[in-house]
Amino acid sequence: MVSMSLLDTRDRPLRDLRISVTDRCNFRCRYCMPREVFGPDYAFLNRAEILTYEEIVRLARVFVELGVEKIRLTGGEPLVRRGLDELIGQLSGIEGLRDLTLTTNGSLLRAQAPRLKAAGLTRITISLDSMDEAVFQRMNDAGVSVATVLDGIDAAAEAGLQPIKINAVVQKGVNDHTIVDLARHFRGSGHIVRFIEFMDVGSTNGWRMNDVVTAREIVERVGAEFPLEPAEANYRGEVAQRWRYTDGGGEIGVIASISQPFCGDCTRARLSAEGELYTCLFASKGQDFRALLRGGASDEELREAVARVWRVRDDRYSEIRTEETAGLRKVEMSHIGG
Ligand code: SF4
Repeated sequence: MVSMSLLDTRDRPLRDLRISVTDRCNFRCRYCMPREVFGPDYAFLNRAEILTYEEIVRLARVFVELGVEKIRLTGGEPLVRRGLDELIGQLSGIEGLRDLTLTTNGSLLRAQAPRLKAAGLTRITISLDSMDEAVFQRMNDAGVSVATVLDGIDAAAEAGLQPIKINAVVQKGVNDHTIVDLARHFRGSGHIVRFIEFMDVGSTNGWRMNDVVTAREIVERVGAEFPLEPAEANYRGEVAQRWRYTDGGGEIGVIASISQPFCGDCTRARLSAEGELYTCLFASKGQDFRALLRGGASDEELREAVARVWRVRDDRYSEIRTEETAGLRKVEMSHIGG
């Protein structure tokens, strides 16, 4: 019997599971799914290759039995997969699961937010990289407007999917000149903008260290306009550093994987849509659980298999990152979610 206190080689518990339900997306964000790679001829996973909702729920139950408290649904774009509310309904019934959230580009939320909330989704993270129409369209490369995503954010708020976090990847020379506008737009709204340092995820986004605007620079720029003070983390392993507006206008977050790595507290595992288990966002290889599921493995065997992977985990990519490691072949973020 696998004990609940499952730790990896750096004494990090397994607390968070990110589940990618599809490798497809209706956006082509340059830093994640550049169109020249993910074009019309790209071989996305077909229906038989991706895990069914029943298989996802069975695996999720095993992870919760091993200590997972929070599940985040991701993609690609999770809302492009049909019947997602059914999956959410089943996951939200898992005993011991404390938090069920989702990351989306927001473009399909107006139609789906009430169903997701009714099914049991607790909160949501929506990506919006800029309020500047031309900049945003250049970044998402799919002709989707800022207004469409803002309407999705409103739909999520109306449905009660609060608090809402807004993720913005900051790239030097692309959208960094618009970050203060983004902060200004959401100040006082209760929504929390989290600025993310541009990362060398996958092997297709042309990442260079020179294109990174560090967390310190981001805080300085926003703070110059709206004074900020550091705020306590909500829990150990929280990814974003919290900064509160000194005038009570709310807070922002910064995710500093490049300049201030946080691997020491990383409690996250990632499951790809075809059932590969990854123990780091920057991994190059995963462990196949689809074969186990479809090969008749018992729940105990699945628990043992997850525990075997986690016990030998020693990932700390962000602590050892160099311009050279950035060029290594790594799993694409659109394959395992951010
Ligand atoms: S680089 Fe890997 S180990 Fe470090 S925080 Fe990110 S996912 Fe966790």
